[in-house]
Amino acid sequence: MAETADIVIIGAGIVGCSIAYHLALQGSAKVVVVEKDLICSGSTGKSAGGIRQQFATEVNLRLSIESLRMFHRMREELRIDPEFRQVGYLFMATAARELEMFRRQAAIQQQYGIPVQMVSTDEIRRIVPYVRVDDIIGGVYCPTDGYAAPYEVTMGYAAAARRLGVTIHEQRAVTRVVRSGDGVAGVETSQGPIHGRVVVNAAGAEGGLVGALAGVEVPVSPYRRQVFVTNPLPEFNQEPPLTIDYHRNWYFRGEMGGCLFSGPKDEESTFNTNVDWEHVAESVAKAVARVPSLEKAEIKRGWAGSYDISPDNNAILGALPELPGFYVATGHSGHGFMHGPATGKLMAELILTGKTSIDISSLGPERFRTGRTVQEPMTMHAA
Ligand SMILES: Cc1cc2nc3c(=O)[nH]c(=O)nc-3n(C[C@H](O)[C@H](O)[C@H](O)COP(=O)(O)OP(=O)(O)OC[C@H]3O[C@@H](n4cnc5c(N)ncnc54)[C@H](O)[C@@H]3O)c2cc1C
Repeated sequence: MAETADIVIIGAGIVGCSIAYHLALQGSAKVVVVEKDLICSGSTGKSAGGIRQQFATEVNLRLSIESLRMFHRMREELRIDPEFRQVGYLFMATAARELEMFRRQAAIQQQYGIPVQMVSTDEIRRIVPYVRVDDIIGGVYCPTDGYAAPYEVTMGYAAAARRLGVTIHEQRAVTRVVRSGDGVAGVETSQGPIHGRVVVNAAGAEGGLVGALAGVEVPVSPYRRQVFVTNPLPEFNQEPPLTIDYHRNWYFRGEMGGCLFSGPKDEESTFNTNVDWEHVAESVAKAVARVPSLEKAEIKRGWAGSYDISPDNNAILGALPELPGFYVATGHSGHGFMHGPATGKLMAELILTGKTSIDISSLGPERFRTGRTVQEPMTMHAA
């Protein structure tokens, strides 16, 4: 007999697992997650785990504030250690217009109670003494930002969802979204069909491909992003904030006593997630220019994954009006880990009640047709 579900979720990254858990908390729907690979094997497993509240639009600020609250509660709620390290986020500016933008945005963030503060070059020198600051004119720092462990968090949501009755199929690909009349009727997979009147596209960087499986356009494209980690270094004994050289679009943070820093960023969309060791020298040069002591460091490992980029660099969350029963929660454009907890909660609310406790209508998929895209400077460029 064919498998049936009330709600089929495609993808078991943080977004799919968080949606599944939050749906299951409400109890009434039969939820099935279908993952073509393994739980957390997509972009979430490659993420740097950064969590920040430094956004400038109301919707992203609220997603951050709510997710931060949820990261704090994960020990009790999910019975896991999310390894949330509240080391802060420091953005550094080298141009007056960047500093002015930080100042404008900090004023907005402060209105939401976020303890962000402008910092002088001297203060930056005190926070990260080993950073070369001769061309830095100031920055902005939020001590309650930080980073957490993407694998632990996602597995926490997956395990908690399973405890509440959710089925998660791994190594089973969705090959088609089945339509009936004017709505969805389920999915076909590599191991047989699953009937269901609600299907959620939580396929991350592959959200565009999964949209095509349903015959609809979901404008999400994959862009390769890489990170490298060095051996432990004495400077990193005391953990730095996640520090961003805004102008050069480069960041680093601590990782097990060493330095995790960002590598090359592909300008062209690609599904390639191999590490580009050929161009590692350029990334090292960028790193050493900012943190000279990295010259002595040894790169221990590196990895690459896909950013899940939408046309305005913001998540696409909501129902697709042209295909009743088909929901989209993808396109987080490099901040899907930090917003994954709240995304799951709000998508569950939307699917079950048609309403959400935070207004996410500005992130709806129809915005690309109406032209009312999201203008969020802090997702254009930064980590
Ligand atoms: C190097 C790097 C660093 C990053 N750093 C940060 C950071 O510091 N902070 C932050 O917030 N974000 C960061 N991100 C972005 C973040 O990883 C993503 O935004 C987030 O993980 C998206 O989660 P997701 O669940 O939507 O996607 P994914 O984790 O990619 O999950 C989608 C899943 O869908 C599955 N799938 C796809 N197609 C199908 C199909 N047809 N059938 C079944 N399953 C399917 C995939 O196998 C995958 O497991 C980073 C990304 C990279 C690559």
